[in-house]
Amino acid sequence: MNSNEEKNKISQVRRDESNSESWTIGKEFRFEASHQLPNHDGKCARLHGHSWRCTIYVSGNRLIYSGAKQGMIMDYDDIKKYVKPIMDNYLDHYHLNDTTGLANPTSEAIAQWIYEKLETEIPGLIAVRVDETCTSQCVYSKGKGNVLIL
Ligand SMILES: [Zn+2]
Repeated sequence: MNSNEEKNKISQVRRDESNSESWTIGKEFRFEASHQLPNHDGKCARLHGHSWRCTIYVSGNRLIYSGAKQGMIMDYDDIKKYVKPIMDNYLDHYHLNDTTGLANPTSEAIAQWIYEKLETEIPGLIAVRVDETCTSQCVYSKGKGNVLIL
């Protein structure tokens, strides 16, 4: 271990003890899909589609100490590895009422559904944001306090 590595290790231990800092990263994905809200009293009751945007937020209070992912809490590419099968098999160019099993797939329900698909795969997962339109979005989180994503 060279002296720089030792300094990094000491710094990491201090961060763990104080628990005073954290990093949150977000990885955005886009998909095209239709949905229908059968109970809605407006136009959302009709079958329609969106260009959806989904952002996965991962948080950590320590950086990876060495190796190819040094200085990261998680590699963006690793987030993509977990999300891609969900996009390919359930979300992109599908009818969300059918593929998610949600009878009423609101942004809220879809964000929760995506979160629950990923929570066992990504330990640092703190929130999933779903943008239904460019002015309408929902952030879902659970178990770690309310999360405000700006
Ligand atoms: Zn809609």
